[in-house]
Parts: sequence; C-alpha cells; structure tokens
Amino acid sequence: MSIPFVDLKAQYASIKSDIDLAIAGVINNTSFIGGPIVTEFEEAFADYLGIDHCVGCANGTDAIEIALQALGVGAGDEVIVPANSWISTAEAVNAVGAEPVFVDYLENEYTLDPALTELAITNKTKAIIPVHLYGLPARMPELLKVAQTHQLKIVEDCAQAHGARIADQKVGTFGDIATFSFYPGKNLGAYGDAGGIVTSDRLLAQRCRMIGNHGQLSKHDHRILGRNSRLDTLQAAILKAKLPFLEQWVRQRNQVAQWYGQYLNKSVTRQITPDGYRHVYHLYVIRTAKRAHLMNALDKSNIGYSVHYPTPLPFIEAYAYQNKSEEDFPVASKLADEIISLPIFPEMTEKQVQTVAEIVNKFK
Ligand SMILES: *Cc1c(COP(=O)(O)O)cnc(C)c1O
Repeated sequence: MSIPFVDLKAQYASIKSDIDLAIAGVINNTSFIGGPIVTEFEEAFADYLGIDHCVGCANGTDAIEIALQALGVGAGDEVIVPANSWISTAEAVNAVGAEPVFVDYLENEYTLDPALTELAITNKTKAIIPVHLYGLPARMPELLKVAQTHQLKIVEDCAQAHGARIADQKVGTFGDIATFSFYPGKNLGAYGDAGGIVTSDRLLAQRCRMIGNHGQLSKHDHRILGRNSRLDTLQAAILKAKLPFLEQWVRQRNQVAQWYGQYLNKSVTRQITPDGYRHVYHLYVIRTAKRAHLMNALDKSNIGYSVHYPTPLPFIEAYAYQNKSEEDFPVASKLADEIISLPIFPEMTEKQVQTVAEIVNKFK
C-alpha cells in the first residue's frame, strides 16, 4: 500500500460538484478579477474567524509583506521571526526593507519562545511575527504581554493554522493583523496561489487593500504607491466553495493525529499541545535520532514524508550575511536533524496511519 504525503485528489473527489459549479460560474460571468465572489469569500472567511475585515491577496508571502508595509515597518526596523519557519516569514521582512531577527523556539511545541523573544528586543524592534507552526497556536497570551510591554506590533503568520484556536478564540484574531496562505496544500487551499490578510482595524484593512491594488482607494485614485497583489476571482470561488468543509477537515485531521497517538510507540517524540489549545495538524511532525534510516524505510514502502524545515532560517545561504552560529539557536539546530513530517490529510484512513506507525516504531 503506497501512502501519499497529502492527497489533494481525494479531497477534490469528495466535493467535485461544488468545485466544478464554482469554477463554471466564474467562467460564465468572465469576471476574472474582483467582483462579488471575492467580497463574499472575504466576508465568509472573516466571519469564520470572528474578525471584522479580510482582504484577499495573491499569496501568503505577499500577505505578510503587505501587512508589514501597512503597519509602517520599513528600513532601519527589526522584526522578530522564529528560527524555524517557511522562508516567507523572514523573506517578507527583508522585502519591506527591515531586518529579520531570528529567535529560537520552544523545544516541545516548536513555536516562538516568548522569553527569548523579549531578550531579542532592541530599540529598533517594531514587530513580532509568531508562526502557528504545523497548525499549533504559538503562545499568544505570553507574546501579547511582551508586545504590550514594549509597544510592538504583532503580525500572526497563520499560513498553517486555519481554524486553530486557544480556548474559543481563533488564531488570526490575537495580534494587530494576521496573514493566511491558501496555497493548494494548506488546510484551506485554493487551486493555485492565493492569500489573505485579516484585522479588526478598519483603517489598517483599507491600507492593505490599497497596497495590493496599486494604491487605489477607487479606480484611478492612487493615494499611495502600491502594487498588484489581488485574490483571483477563480480562486475566491473555489475557496468559498471549500470553506464550509473546513471545520470537518480539521476534525478529520485531529482524528488522524489521534490515531498516530494511539499507534505510535509511546517513546516517539511529538509536538505537545498545551491545555486549551486546538491544533489543526497541517503537519504531523515527530522526532527521531534515526531519521535517515526511517526515510529509507518509508521510501521502500512508498510512503510520503517531508522535513519542515531541513535548515533553520538563520543558516540558509540567503541569511549567511547575519553570521549566526549553532550556539545562537540550540533548539532549532538540534531539532533540524531529527524532525520528520509524516503523511496527514483529512481523508487518511486508520489503516494507513497504522501502516505508517508500524514503520516509524522501528526507528524511534
Ligand atoms: C506557506 C507559508 C507561507 C507562504 O505562503 P505562500 O502562499 O506560499 O506565499 C508563509 N508562512 C508559512 C509559515 C507558510 O507555511
């Protein structure tokens, strides 16, 4: 039995008629940019999160960049970013002319360490970007306290955490502004690139919309210099059709995670979810000192896997100029050699989980 890392075909098959109808609707109207469907999706997604404003944009990387720009972050500023994330989180900081300051993460949760965050603050620090990595909310209560004490902005990177929450509050509603990616493999994924920015601040939302639409408030009224980063109507239609299923998919992902919990040997190290936190399991990440052997065995059985991420951000070539060493990031350095992401997707069966777990248990 071969098991894919993610199975987007299974998801399409389960909602094919909804998707086909949504796509045909856009083509029939030939309204490919803007229009009511984009607004309807933005409103539905904001409603789902429990926040006032959502501004669609072209992808999750642009979303971070636009959010930072709208907050006024730019040249000479520093922004605190976790040492382990997808490169977008840091890249967006450079893109607005600011400098990412990497901070190590919590060894059991793999999210930004609030105590180390506070130690990294300088008089240039303007913002913190917590990432709800793998779908687990970062320690928002502690990070909000740090931000308040030092008057910093918080941009939540929610690219992996649609629907994750702490108690009843969804991620994306804690900070000043938050960003989402709807890349196809994300928990709510489009059929191409797409992204979104959410905030409860009306003026901030308006600034984001202007930045993403050539600085226009209305047609030919360019108030500021912006760019082109809009949410495609076709993608908005697909996302709108998929949104009603998101909660169900999150529950199914949690079921898969529970099966892993049941079938994996107790000594396999996994991400720990704090009490009251709802993980949405974009990824199911474990640690093993025998990773190379495990990868070999998974390859032989045609089981998909990945590593998120093989190199901590401060050590990738693009950031060599920061001259950081392993001692600066002991947790990230150690874990980068041990982490591995096992297959997880809503349609995954108990039998498939059992098959993966049996192999993993040999290399714990
Ligand atoms: C996917 C991702 C992004 C970027 O999203 P794109 O839509 O691919 O630009 C940003 N941050 C994190 C943590 C991600 O996983």
